[in-house]
Amino acid sequence: MVSRVIPVEDFDLVIFGATGDLAHRKILPGLFRRFVAGQIPETSRIIGAARTEQDDDAFRAEAAKAIVEFAGVKKNDPDLVRFTGLLGYTAIDAKGEGGWKALKARMRKGAVHAFYFSVAPSLFGDIAERLHGHGITDKHSRIVVEKPFGRDLETARALNTMLAQHFREQQIYRIDHYLGKETVQNLMAVRFANILFEPLWNAQFIDHVQITVAETVGVSGRGSYYDKSGAIRDMVQNHMMQLLCLIAMEPPYHFDPNAVRDEKLKVIRALEPVEPSDIVRGQYQPDGKEPGYLEDAENPDSRTESYVAMKVRISNWRWQGTPFYLRTGKKLRARTSEIAITFKEPPHSIFDDTGAPRANELVIRLQPNEGMNLKVMIKEPGPGGMRLVQVPLDMSFADALGPEGADMPDAYERLIMDVIRGNQTLFMRGDEVEAAWAWTDPIIRAWEDGKQRPEPYDAGSSGPEEALRLMHRDNRRWREIRA
Ligand code: NAP
Repeated sequence: MVSRVIPVEDFDLVIFGATGDLAHRKILPGLFRRFVAGQIPETSRIIGAARTEQDDDAFRAEAAKAIVEFAGVKKNDPDLVRFTGLLGYTAIDAKGEGGWKALKARMRKGAVHAFYFSVAPSLFGDIAERLHGHGITDKHSRIVVEKPFGRDLETARALNTMLAQHFREQQIYRIDHYLGKETVQNLMAVRFANILFEPLWNAQFIDHVQITVAETVGVSGRGSYYDKSGAIRDMVQNHMMQLLCLIAMEPPYHFDPNAVRDEKLKVIRALEPVEPSDIVRGQYQPDGKEPGYLEDAENPDSRTESYVAMKVRISNWRWQGTPFYLRTGKKLRARTSEIAITFKEPPHSIFDDTGAPRANELVIRLQPNEGMNLKVMIKEPGPGGMRLVQVPLDMSFADALGPEGADMPDAYERLIMDVIRGNQTLFMRGDEVEAAWAWTDPIIRAWEDGKQRPEPYDAGSSGPEEALRLMHRDNRRWREIRA
Protein backbone atom coordinates (compact mmCIF):
# COMPACT_ATOMS: atom_id res chain seq x y z
CA MET A 1 0.00 0.00 0.00
CA VAL A 2 1.56 3.30 -1.04
CA SER A 3 0.83 6.23 1.26
CA ARG A 4 0.28 9.48 -0.52
CA VAL A 5 2.56 12.40 0.26
CA ILE A 6 0.85 15.71 -0.23
CA PRO A 7 3.39 18.55 -0.31
CA VAL A 8 2.77 21.40 2.09
CA GLU A 9 2.91 25.08 1.17
CA ASP A 10 6.19 26.93 0.99
CA PHE A 11 7.16 27.91 4.57
CA ASP A 12 9.66 29.64 6.82
CA LEU A 13 10.03 27.76 10.09
CA VAL A 14 12.02 29.30 12.92
CA ILE A 15 13.18 26.85 15.59
CA PHE A 16 13.98 28.56 18.89
CA GLY A 17 16.23 26.18 20.80
CA ALA A 18 17.69 24.80 17.55
CA THR A 19 20.91 23.81 19.32
CA GLY A 20 19.05 21.78 21.95
CA ASP A 21 18.30 18.10 22.48
CA LEU A 22 14.76 18.07 21.09
CA ALA A 23 15.78 19.91 17.92
CA HIS A 24 18.67 17.50 17.40
CA ARG A 25 16.82 14.29 18.17
CA LYS A 26 13.37 14.94 16.79
CA ILE A 27 12.68 18.20 14.99
CA LEU A 28 15.58 18.36 12.51
CA PRO A 29 15.60 14.61 11.70
CA GLY A 30 11.81 14.74 11.32
CA LEU A 31 11.98 17.67 8.92
CA PHE A 32 14.71 15.90 6.98
CA ARG A 33 12.56 12.78 6.54
CA ARG A 34 9.60 14.84 5.34
CA PHE A 35 11.92 16.61 2.90
CA VAL A 36 13.16 13.29 1.52
CA ALA A 37 9.54 12.10 1.25
CA GLY A 38 8.88 15.08 -1.01
CA GLN A 39 6.56 16.88 1.37
CA ILE A 40 8.64 20.00 1.93
CA PRO A 41 9.10 22.41 -0.99
CA GLU A 42 12.75 23.06 -1.88
CA THR A 43 12.10 26.78 -1.48
CA SER A 44 11.21 26.46 2.21
CA ARG A 45 13.52 27.85 4.88
CA ILE A 46 14.30 26.47 8.33
CA ILE A 47 15.99 28.99 10.57
CA GLY A 48 17.66 27.93 13.78
CA ALA A 49 17.73 30.39 16.68
CA ALA A 50 19.48 30.13 20.05
CA ARG A 51 22.09 32.07 22.04
CA THR A 52 25.09 30.15 20.66
CA GLU A 53 27.00 32.43 18.27
CA GLN A 54 27.49 30.67 14.94
CA ASP A 55 26.88 31.28 11.24
CA ASP A 56 24.64 29.43 8.78
CA ASP A 57 27.36 26.99 7.76
CA ALA A 58 28.20 26.01 11.31
CA PHE A 59 24.52 25.36 12.04
CA ARG A 60 24.17 23.33 8.83
CA ALA A 61 27.09 21.16 9.95
CA GLU A 62 25.57 20.79 13.44
CA ALA A 63 22.18 19.84 11.98
CA ALA A 64 23.76 17.37 9.53
CA LYS A 65 25.59 15.69 12.41
CA ALA A 66 22.35 15.36 14.39
CA ILE A 67 20.48 13.99 11.39
CA VAL A 68 23.23 11.44 10.70
CA GLU A 69 23.01 10.33 14.30
CA PHE A 70 19.26 10.31 14.78
CA ALA A 71 17.83 9.67 11.31
CA GLY A 72 20.39 7.01 10.48
CA VAL A 73 21.61 8.50 7.18
CA LYS A 74 25.11 8.60 5.77
CA LYS A 75 27.18 11.75 6.08
CA ASN A 76 27.48 12.13 2.31
CA ASP A 77 23.84 11.36 1.53
CA PRO A 78 22.94 13.73 -1.35
CA ASP A 79 19.52 14.40 0.26
CA LEU A 80 21.29 15.61 3.38
CA VAL A 81 23.26 18.14 1.37
CA ARG A 82 20.09 19.34 -0.36
CA PHE A 83 18.24 19.53 2.95
CA THR A 84 20.90 21.48 4.81
CA GLY A 85 20.73 24.00 1.96
CA LEU A 86 17.33 24.99 3.42
CA LEU A 87 18.84 25.81 6.80
CA GLY A 88 20.01 29.11 8.22
CA TYR A 89 20.79 30.42 11.69
CA THR A 90 20.34 33.61 13.67
CA ALA A 91 21.87 34.02 17.13
CA ILE A 92 19.21 35.34 19.49
CA ASP A 93 18.92 35.55 23.25
CA ALA A 94 15.22 35.29 24.06
CA LYS A 95 15.78 37.76 26.89
CA GLY A 96 17.74 40.31 24.87
CA GLU A 97 17.04 42.62 21.95
CA GLY A 98 19.83 41.50 19.60
CA GLY A 99 19.19 39.36 16.55
CA TRP A 100 15.46 40.01 16.10
CA LYS A 101 15.93 42.47 13.23
CA ALA A 102 18.15 39.97 11.44
CA LEU A 103 15.48 37.31 11.95
CA LYS A 104 12.80 39.58 10.57
CA ALA A 105 14.91 40.24 7.49
CA ARG A 106 15.07 36.51 6.81
CA MET A 107 11.31 35.96 6.79
CA ARG A 108 9.91 35.87 3.25
CA LYS A 109 6.62 37.45 2.23
CA GLY A 110 4.05 34.97 0.97
CA ALA A 111 5.42 31.92 2.81
CA VAL A 112 3.70 30.32 5.80
CA HIS A 113 5.47 31.56 8.95
CA ALA A 114 5.81 29.16 11.89
CA PHE A 115 7.81 29.57 15.11
CA TYR A 116 8.69 26.50 17.14
CA PHE A 117 9.37 27.27 20.82
CA SER A 118 11.68 24.34 21.61
CA VAL A 119 13.02 26.03 24.73
CA ALA A 120 12.24 25.98 28.44
CA PRO A 121 8.65 27.18 29.08
CA SER A 122 10.06 30.04 31.17
CA LEU A 123 11.22 31.58 27.85
CA PHE A 124 7.87 31.31 26.02
CA GLY A 125 6.78 34.75 27.24
CA ASP A 126 10.04 36.47 26.27
CA ILE A 127 9.96 35.01 22.79
CA ALA A 128 6.25 35.70 22.20
CA GLU A 129 6.63 39.29 23.33
CA ARG A 130 9.68 40.00 21.20
CA LEU A 131 8.32 38.30 18.08
CA HIS A 132 5.30 40.51 18.40
CA GLY A 133 7.18 43.64 19.50
CA HIS A 134 9.62 43.46 16.60
CA GLY A 135 6.78 43.00 14.12
CA ILE A 136 8.02 39.55 13.07
CA THR A 137 4.65 37.85 13.57
CA ASP A 138 1.24 38.85 12.26
CA LYS A 139 -2.23 37.36 12.57
CA HIS A 140 -1.34 34.55 10.16
CA SER A 141 1.83 33.38 11.94
CA ARG A 142 1.74 30.12 13.86
CA ILE A 143 3.55 29.26 17.06
CA VAL A 144 4.31 25.78 18.36
CA VAL A 145 4.82 25.30 22.08
CA GLU A 146 6.36 22.26 23.73
CA LYS A 147 5.30 20.48 26.85
CA PRO A 148 5.16 20.90 29.78
CA PHE A 149 2.32 23.38 29.38
CA GLY A 150 2.29 24.61 32.97
CA ARG A 151 2.70 22.55 36.13
CA ASP A 152 -0.80 23.17 37.46
CA LEU A 153 -3.96 25.03 36.53
CA GLU A 154 -2.65 28.39 37.68
CA THR A 155 0.58 28.26 35.67
CA ALA A 156 -1.18 26.85 32.59
CA ARG A 157 -3.71 29.66 32.78
CA ALA A 158 -0.96 32.24 33.11
CA LEU A 159 0.76 30.76 30.05
CA ASN A 160 -2.47 30.81 28.04
CA THR A 161 -3.18 34.39 29.08
CA MET A 162 0.33 35.47 28.16
CA LEU A 163 0.22 33.82 24.72
CA ALA A 164 -3.26 35.21 24.12
CA GLN A 165 -1.86 38.75 24.41
CA HIS A 166 -0.03 38.26 21.14
CA PHE A 167 -1.67 35.32 19.37
CA ARG A 168 -5.18 34.07 18.71
CA GLU A 169 -6.03 30.50 19.73
CA GLN A 170 -6.05 29.48 16.03
CA GLN A 171 -2.37 30.41 15.87
CA ILE A 172 -1.22 28.37 18.88
CA TYR A 173 -0.16 24.73 18.44
CA ARG A 174 0.39 23.03 21.82
CA ILE A 175 2.26 19.83 21.15
CA ASP A 176 1.42 16.53 22.75
CA HIS A 177 3.47 14.20 20.62
CA TYR A 178 1.29 11.25 21.61
CA LEU A 179 -1.43 12.71 19.44
CA GLY A 180 0.88 12.50 16.42
CA LYS A 181 1.31 8.75 16.73
CA GLU A 182 -0.24 6.79 13.89
CA THR A 183 -2.12 4.39 16.16
CA VAL A 184 -3.53 7.18 18.28
CA GLN A 185 -5.12 8.70 15.22
CA ASN A 186 -6.20 5.25 14.23
CA LEU A 187 -8.28 5.15 17.39
CA MET A 188 -10.56 7.66 15.77
CA ALA A 189 -10.59 5.78 12.46
CA VAL A 190 -11.37 2.48 14.18
CA ARG A 191 -14.17 4.00 16.21
CA PHE A 192 -15.77 6.33 13.72
CA ALA A 193 -15.13 4.75 10.32
CA ASN A 194 -16.41 1.26 11.22
CA ILE A 195 -19.92 0.24 12.12
CA LEU A 196 -18.67 -2.74 14.13
CA PHE A 197 -17.50 -1.11 17.31
CA GLU A 198 -19.52 2.02 17.92
CA PRO A 199 -22.83 0.30 18.81
CA LEU A 200 -20.96 -1.64 21.53
CA TRP A 201 -18.85 1.28 22.69
CA ASN A 202 -20.57 2.06 25.97
CA ALA A 203 -21.13 0.91 29.53
CA GLN A 204 -23.74 -1.61 28.47
CA PHE A 205 -21.19 -3.69 26.58
CA ILE A 206 -17.77 -2.62 27.88
CA ASP A 207 -16.74 -3.90 31.29
CA HIS A 208 -13.67 -1.70 31.69
CA VAL A 209 -10.78 -0.05 29.86
CA GLN A 210 -7.07 -0.29 30.76
CA ILE A 211 -4.57 2.24 29.50
CA THR A 212 -0.93 1.35 30.11
CA VAL A 213 2.19 3.34 29.30
CA ALA A 214 5.17 1.39 30.66
CA GLU A 215 8.82 2.29 30.31
CA THR A 216 11.92 0.26 31.11
CA VAL A 217 14.16 3.27 31.63
CA GLY A 218 14.48 5.10 34.92
CA VAL A 219 15.03 8.82 35.41
CA SER A 220 18.80 8.65 35.69
CA GLY A 221 20.42 11.68 34.06
CA ARG A 222 17.32 13.86 34.37
CA GLY A 223 16.33 12.86 37.89
CA SER A 224 16.33 16.29 39.47
CA TYR A 225 14.14 17.62 36.62
CA TYR A 226 11.75 14.65 36.83
CA ASP A 227 11.56 14.91 40.60
CA LYS A 228 9.71 18.23 40.27
CA SER A 229 7.18 16.61 38.01
CA GLY A 230 6.39 12.91 38.65
CA ALA A 231 4.29 10.49 36.66
CA ILE A 232 0.98 12.33 37.02
CA ARG A 233 2.31 15.60 35.62
CA ASP A 234 4.65 13.95 33.13
CA MET A 235 2.27 11.34 31.69
CA VAL A 236 -1.25 11.35 33.07
CA GLN A 237 -2.25 15.00 32.74
CA ASN A 238 -1.28 15.09 29.08
CA HIS A 239 -0.61 11.85 27.15
CA MET A 240 -2.85 9.45 29.05
CA MET A 241 -5.62 12.00 29.32
CA GLN A 242 -5.54 12.39 25.55
CA LEU A 243 -5.77 8.63 25.04
CA LEU A 244 -8.64 8.41 27.48
CA CYS A 245 -10.45 11.21 25.64
CA LEU A 246 -10.10 9.53 22.27
CA ILE A 247 -11.54 6.29 23.67
CA ALA A 248 -14.33 7.94 25.62
CA MET A 249 -15.45 10.87 23.49
CA GLU A 250 -18.69 11.11 21.55
CA PRO A 251 -18.42 11.11 17.75
CA PRO A 252 -17.68 14.66 16.61
CA TYR A 253 -19.96 15.91 13.83
CA HIS A 254 -16.95 16.17 11.53
CA PHE A 255 -13.22 15.51 11.67
CA ASP A 256 -12.61 19.15 12.27
CA PRO A 257 -10.16 20.61 14.82
CA ASN A 258 -12.70 22.33 17.01
CA ALA A 259 -15.37 19.64 16.69
CA VAL A 260 -12.88 16.97 17.83
CA ARG A 261 -11.50 19.11 20.64
CA ASP A 262 -14.99 20.09 21.84
CA GLU A 263 -15.77 16.40 22.33
CA LYS A 264 -12.50 15.71 24.14
CA LEU A 265 -13.13 18.65 26.44
CA LYS A 266 -16.54 17.24 27.38
CA VAL A 267 -14.87 14.00 28.50
CA ILE A 268 -12.33 15.81 30.67
CA ARG A 269 -15.07 17.86 32.28
CA ALA A 270 -17.04 14.68 32.99
CA LEU A 271 -14.18 13.03 34.90
CA GLU A 272 -15.06 12.42 38.52
CA PRO A 273 -12.56 13.39 41.21
CA VAL A 274 -10.36 10.39 42.01
CA GLU A 275 -10.86 8.86 45.45
CA PRO A 276 -7.59 8.53 47.44
CA SER A 277 -8.31 4.80 47.71
CA ASP A 278 -8.41 4.56 43.91
CA ILE A 279 -4.87 5.72 43.34
CA VAL A 280 -1.53 4.04 43.94
CA ARG A 281 1.83 5.70 43.65
CA GLY A 282 5.16 3.95 43.48
CA GLN A 283 8.91 4.47 43.39
CA TYR A 284 11.32 1.95 41.90
CA GLN A 285 13.90 0.41 44.21
CA PRO A 286 17.61 -0.18 43.71
CA ASP A 287 18.18 -3.60 42.19
CA GLY A 288 21.74 -4.33 43.26
CA LYS A 289 23.21 -3.17 39.94
CA GLU A 290 21.38 0.07 39.35
CA PRO A 291 20.27 2.78 41.74
CA GLY A 292 16.68 3.25 42.79
CA TYR A 293 14.49 6.29 42.24
CA LEU A 294 15.72 8.20 45.28
CA GLU A 295 19.35 8.00 44.13
CA ASP A 296 18.42 8.80 40.52
CA ALA A 297 16.41 11.80 41.71
CA GLU A 298 19.31 12.84 43.97
CA ASN A 299 16.74 13.42 46.67
CA PRO A 300 16.66 10.86 49.51
CA ASP A 301 13.41 12.34 50.89
CA SER A 302 11.58 12.51 47.58
CA ARG A 303 7.91 11.55 47.59
CA THR A 304 7.59 12.01 43.83
CA GLU A 305 6.07 9.04 42.04
CA SER A 306 7.82 7.17 39.26
CA TYR A 307 4.69 5.02 38.94
CA VAL A 308 1.01 5.73 39.24
CA ALA A 309 -2.08 3.58 38.79
CA MET A 310 -5.60 4.88 39.18
CA LYS A 311 -9.21 4.09 38.64
CA VAL A 312 -11.05 6.82 36.80
CA ARG A 313 -14.78 7.23 36.40
CA ILE A 314 -16.51 9.25 33.73
CA SER A 315 -19.78 10.77 34.78
CA ASN A 316 -21.91 10.66 31.67
CA TRP A 317 -24.55 8.43 30.08
CA ARG A 318 -22.16 6.49 27.90
CA TRP A 319 -19.70 5.48 30.61
CA GLN A 320 -21.70 5.29 33.82
CA GLY A 321 -20.42 2.16 35.57
CA THR A 322 -17.45 1.44 33.29
CA PRO A 323 -14.18 2.31 34.99
CA PHE A 324 -11.03 3.33 33.14
CA TYR A 325 -7.84 2.08 34.78
CA LEU A 326 -4.71 4.06 34.02
CA ARG A 327 -1.15 3.06 34.88
CA THR A 328 2.22 4.36 33.88
CA GLY A 329 5.69 3.97 35.29
CA LYS A 330 9.43 3.89 34.88
CA LYS A 331 11.70 0.84 35.17
CA LEU A 332 8.90 -1.60 34.53
CA ARG A 333 9.14 -5.04 32.97
CA ALA A 334 8.79 -3.94 29.34
CA ARG A 335 8.39 -0.87 27.21
CA THR A 336 4.85 -0.88 26.00
CA SER A 337 1.90 1.44 25.46
CA GLU A 338 -1.50 -0.01 24.89
CA ILE A 339 -5.19 0.47 25.40
CA ALA A 340 -7.22 -2.61 26.23
CA ILE A 341 -11.00 -2.58 26.02
CA THR A 342 -12.56 -5.53 27.81
CA PHE A 343 -16.12 -6.22 26.75
CA LYS A 344 -18.70 -7.84 28.98
CA GLU A 345 -19.32 -11.53 28.77
CA PRO A 346 -22.29 -12.70 26.71
CA PRO A 347 -25.37 -12.64 28.97
CA HIS A 348 -26.01 -16.35 28.57
CA SER A 349 -23.79 -19.17 27.41
CA ILE A 350 -25.30 -22.04 25.44
CA PHE A 351 -22.03 -23.98 25.78
CA ASP A 352 -20.84 -25.99 28.73
CA ASP A 353 -18.44 -23.98 30.82
CA THR A 354 -14.88 -24.89 29.91
CA GLY A 355 -13.38 -22.28 32.17
CA ALA A 356 -11.99 -20.33 29.19
CA PRO A 357 -12.28 -16.54 29.49
CA ARG A 358 -15.32 -15.48 27.57
CA ALA A 359 -15.06 -11.73 27.33
CA ASN A 360 -13.91 -10.26 24.05
CA GLU A 361 -11.00 -7.92 24.32
CA LEU A 362 -9.79 -5.29 21.88
CA VAL A 363 -6.18 -4.25 22.42
CA ILE A 364 -4.77 -1.29 20.58
CA ARG A 365 -0.96 -1.28 20.71
CA LEU A 366 0.73 2.08 20.40
CA GLN A 367 4.20 0.64 20.85
CA PRO A 368 6.04 -1.49 20.09
CA ASN A 369 4.72 -3.02 16.87
CA GLU A 370 1.71 -0.74 16.42
CA GLY A 371 -1.43 -2.66 15.72
CA MET A 372 -4.66 -4.13 17.00
CA ASN A 373 -5.64 -7.42 18.48
CA LEU A 374 -9.21 -8.60 18.96
CA LYS A 375 -9.72 -11.65 21.12
CA VAL A 376 -12.63 -13.78 19.96
CA MET A 377 -14.02 -17.13 21.00
CA ILE A 378 -13.91 -20.04 18.57
CA LYS A 379 -14.33 -23.77 18.79
CA GLU A 380 -11.22 -25.58 19.79
CA PRO A 381 -10.27 -27.63 16.75
CA GLY A 382 -10.55 -31.41 16.95
CA PRO A 383 -13.13 -34.06 17.58
CA GLY A 384 -13.38 -33.58 21.33
CA GLY A 385 -16.83 -32.03 21.37
CA MET A 386 -17.75 -28.37 21.59
CA ARG A 387 -14.95 -26.80 23.60
CA LEU A 388 -14.26 -23.13 23.30
CA VAL A 389 -10.97 -21.35 23.10
CA GLN A 390 -10.10 -17.68 22.91
CA VAL A 391 -7.86 -16.72 19.98
CA PRO A 392 -6.43 -13.39 18.88
CA LEU A 393 -7.28 -11.78 15.58
CA ASP A 394 -3.96 -10.03 15.42
CA MET A 395 -3.09 -7.24 13.06
CA SER A 396 0.23 -5.52 13.02
CA PHE A 397 -0.06 -2.34 10.95
CA ALA A 398 3.41 -2.94 9.56
CA ASP A 399 2.32 -6.35 8.20
CA ALA A 400 -1.09 -5.22 7.06
CA LEU A 401 0.15 -2.10 5.32
CA GLY A 402 3.44 -3.45 3.95
CA PRO A 403 6.75 -1.58 3.98
CA GLU A 404 4.94 1.76 3.82
CA GLY A 405 3.16 0.85 7.04
CA ALA A 406 6.45 -0.04 8.71
CA ASP A 407 7.92 3.27 7.70
CA MET A 408 5.30 5.48 9.26
CA PRO A 409 6.24 9.08 9.94
CA ASP A 410 7.34 9.83 13.46
CA ALA A 411 4.86 11.80 15.56
CA TYR A 412 6.92 14.99 15.32
CA GLU A 413 7.12 14.79 11.53
CA ARG A 414 3.39 14.54 11.21
CA LEU A 415 2.69 17.28 13.74
CA ILE A 416 5.10 19.79 12.20
CA MET A 417 3.53 19.19 8.78
CA ASP A 418 0.10 19.76 10.37
CA VAL A 419 1.33 23.12 11.69
CA ILE A 420 2.33 24.14 8.17
CA ARG A 421 -1.03 22.92 6.84
CA GLY A 422 -2.79 24.91 9.55
CA ASN A 423 -4.56 21.85 10.96
CA GLN A 424 -4.98 21.98 14.76
CA THR A 425 -6.90 18.71 15.20
CA LEU A 426 -3.96 16.94 16.84
CA PHE A 427 -2.97 19.83 19.10
CA MET A 428 -4.38 20.64 22.50
CA ARG A 429 -6.60 23.66 22.80
CA GLY A 430 -6.05 26.04 25.72
CA ASP A 431 -9.32 25.14 27.46
CA GLU A 432 -8.54 21.43 27.13
CA VAL A 433 -5.18 21.84 28.87
CA GLU A 434 -6.75 23.89 31.64
CA ALA A 435 -9.55 21.36 32.16
CA ALA A 436 -6.98 18.57 32.41
CA TRP A 437 -5.05 20.49 35.07
CA ALA A 438 -8.27 21.33 36.91
CA TRP A 439 -8.87 17.58 37.24
CA THR A 440 -5.29 16.59 38.16
CA ASP A 441 -4.55 19.50 40.53
CA PRO A 442 -6.61 18.19 43.50
CA ILE A 443 -5.03 14.73 43.10
CA ILE A 444 -1.54 16.23 43.20
CA ARG A 445 -2.37 18.64 46.01
CA ALA A 446 -3.91 15.96 48.22
CA TRP A 447 -0.76 13.92 47.74
CA GLU A 448 1.59 16.81 48.43
CA ASP A 449 -0.34 17.75 51.57
CA GLY A 450 -0.27 14.18 52.89
CA LYS A 451 2.54 12.32 54.60
CA GLN A 452 2.33 9.03 52.77
CA ARG A 453 5.36 7.70 50.90
CA PRO A 454 5.04 6.07 47.48
CA GLU A 455 4.88 2.26 47.50
CA PRO A 456 8.21 0.63 46.66
CA TYR A 457 8.39 -1.62 43.59
CA ASP A 458 11.16 -3.71 42.10
CA ALA A 459 12.86 -2.50 38.96
CA GLY A 460 11.79 -4.79 36.12
CA SER A 461 8.46 -5.65 37.78
CA SER A 462 4.89 -4.67 36.89
CA GLY A 463 4.70 -2.03 39.62
CA PRO A 464 3.75 -2.05 43.30
CA GLU A 465 1.66 -4.81 44.87
CA GLU A 466 -0.88 -2.19 45.89
CA ALA A 467 -1.67 -1.56 42.23
CA LEU A 468 -2.54 -5.24 41.81
CA ARG A 469 -4.88 -4.96 44.76
CA LEU A 470 -6.57 -1.92 43.20
CA MET A 471 -7.72 -4.25 40.44
CA HIS A 472 -8.34 -7.36 42.53
CA ARG A 473 -10.72 -5.36 44.68
CA ASP A 474 -12.90 -4.97 41.61
CA ASN A 475 -12.46 -8.63 40.59
CA ARG A 476 -10.36 -7.60 37.64
CA ARG A 477 -6.73 -8.04 36.66
CA TRP A 478 -4.20 -5.87 34.94
CA ARG A 479 -2.99 -7.17 31.63
CA GLU A 480 0.53 -8.49 31.75
CA ILE A 481 3.14 -5.89 30.89
CA ARG A 482 5.14 -7.36 28.03
CA ALA A 483 6.75 -6.08 24.87
P1 NAP B 1 17.77 21.74 25.86
O1 NAP B 1 18.53 20.61 25.26
O2 NAP B 1 18.16 22.25 27.19
O3 NAP B 1 17.83 22.94 24.81
C1 NAP B 1 17.38 24.22 25.12
C2 NAP B 1 17.58 25.12 23.92
O4 NAP B 1 17.18 26.43 24.30
C3 NAP B 1 19.01 25.20 23.44
O5 NAP B 1 19.01 25.26 22.04
C4 NAP B 1 19.50 26.52 24.04
O6 NAP B 1 20.51 26.99 23.19
C5 NAP B 1 18.22 27.34 23.93
N1 NAP B 1 18.19 28.45 24.87
C6 NAP B 1 18.40 28.41 26.21
N2 NAP B 1 18.29 29.66 26.73
C7 NAP B 1 18.01 30.48 25.71
C8 NAP B 1 17.78 31.88 25.60
N3 NAP B 1 17.82 32.68 26.66
N4 NAP B 1 17.51 32.38 24.40
C9 NAP B 1 17.46 31.59 23.29
N5 NAP B 1 17.66 30.26 23.32
C10 NAP B 1 17.93 29.72 24.52
O7 NAP B 1 16.22 21.41 25.95
P2 NAP B 1 15.37 20.38 25.07
O8 NAP B 1 15.48 19.04 25.68
O9 NAP B 1 15.74 20.55 23.63
O10 NAP B 1 13.89 20.87 25.34
C11 NAP B 1 13.31 22.00 24.74
C12 NAP B 1 11.83 22.08 25.12
O11 NAP B 1 11.18 20.91 24.67
C13 NAP B 1 11.58 22.13 26.63
O12 NAP B 1 10.42 22.88 26.86
C14 NAP B 1 11.30 20.68 26.99
O13 NAP B 1 10.48 20.56 28.14
C15 NAP B 1 10.55 20.23 25.75
N6 NAP B 1 10.60 18.79 25.50
C16 NAP B 1 11.79 18.17 25.27
C17 NAP B 1 11.80 16.81 25.00
C18 NAP B 1 13.09 16.09 24.71
O14 NAP B 1 13.01 14.89 24.40
N7 NAP B 1 14.23 16.72 24.76
C19 NAP B 1 10.61 16.08 24.98
C20 NAP B 1 9.41 16.76 25.22
C21 NAP B 1 9.42 18.11 25.46
P3 NAP B 1 21.65 28.04 23.63
O15 NAP B 1 22.27 27.52 24.87
O16 NAP B 1 22.55 28.04 22.42
O17 NAP B 1 20.95 29.32 23.80
